[in-house]
Amino acid sequence: MQFHIQETMSKGLKTTIDEELDVSDLFKGRQDVYRTGPLHVMLQVTGHEGFIEVDGKLAIDLELACSRCLEPVKDHTVIRFSEVFKRAASDVDRDEDMEEEESDFIEVDADRLDLRPYVEEALQLFMPFAPLCSNDCKGLCQTCGQNLNEHTCSCSTEKIDVRFAALKDLFKE
Ligand SMILES: [Zn+2]
Ligand SMILES: [Zn+2]
Repeated sequence: MQFHIQETMSKGLKTTIDEELDVSDLFKGRQDVYRTGPLHVMLQVTGHEGFIEVDGKLAIDLELACSRCLEPVKDHTVIRFSEVFKRAASDVDRDEDMEEEESDFIEVDADRLDLRPYVEEALQLFMPFAPLCSNDCKGLCQTCGQNLNEHTCSCSTEKIDVRFAALKDLFKE
């Protein structure tokens, strides 16, 4: 997934990337990520005069912890990827270009464009947020850790009782 920037731009190159990346290292130490399948990268790279356009999608099979009960949740995530890369201007050019500086470009300060870090960043950014095993997942009991989808426990009712007791005391005074 590396391109020589000058070469790609000057030749008006068009390339398709169809690769699978092992991204398991990215989520090492994340307890809410149980398994990450390879990241399927499907991108179209097009060289233009002065910039490189990269467009396509990323897809991955994930096994994540339900954000309420921690049971594994399987997810197939598809992420749209669309970026425009530009060779960082030299100091001389930079002054001239200052006025029409566009933030839509990602400036690359090297001869080679390596897409891997951008692809990995996109994945980390668009990972499903707070996945749920089901919309009405009852989660874990905060007190005893019981998975409330499987069994109920008596903790929650006790808590209410305590509050009630405090309330009663308040009214006595
Ligand atoms: Zn759940
Ligand atoms: Zn409990």
